[in-house]
Amino acid sequence: MCGIVGAIAERNVVPILVEGLRRLEYRGYDSAGLAVLRDARSLGLRRAVGKVSGLQSKLDADPLAGTLGLAHTRWATHGGVTEQNAHPHLSGDRIAVIHNGVIENFQEIKDELLEKGYEFASETDTEVAAHLVHDYVKAVTSLVEAVRKATQRFEGAFALLVVDS
Ligand code: GLU
Repeated sequence: MCGIVGAIAERNVVPILVEGLRRLEYRGYDSAGLAVLRDARSLGLRRAVGKVSGLQSKLDADPLAGTLGLAHTRWATHGGVTEQNAHPHLSGDRIAVIHNGVIENFQEIKDELLEKGYEFASETDTEVAAHLVHDYVKAVTSLVEAVRKATQRFEGAFALLVVDS
């Protein structure tokens, strides 16, 4: 079962996110990742197959900082256990998504998004959420509205965390 952590603070949230993932390790997972909103409003991403300690090693080698972020431990349902399939999933440099559960009708939404020119970097059902929210957010007035419109399309059971840079 996956774990989801979100944090916003006046200081760097990366240590808070990693500690949150450590506290959720007992739930079981196959990979871990996090994304933060950096100073220039760009999204920074780090992911690793295996333990949260592996993610921490990547952060030690290539540090990341930001005051708002989201983190995930994945239990794969769609797509193999790879870094590309680990969450968060991005759409452009704008939307970051993490997801617990399954979007059962992801294939029909994926076909529609491919038709519109969105490129997929993973085999997950989750990535449709990133691109669909991105597609809607360009047309509506708020991220909340875009997420609401996207989730109305999804069949299945899921929890999502979404950031718009
Ligand atoms: N279905 C998603 C995936 O395979 C999320 C799995 C989970 O809940 O960790 O990536």
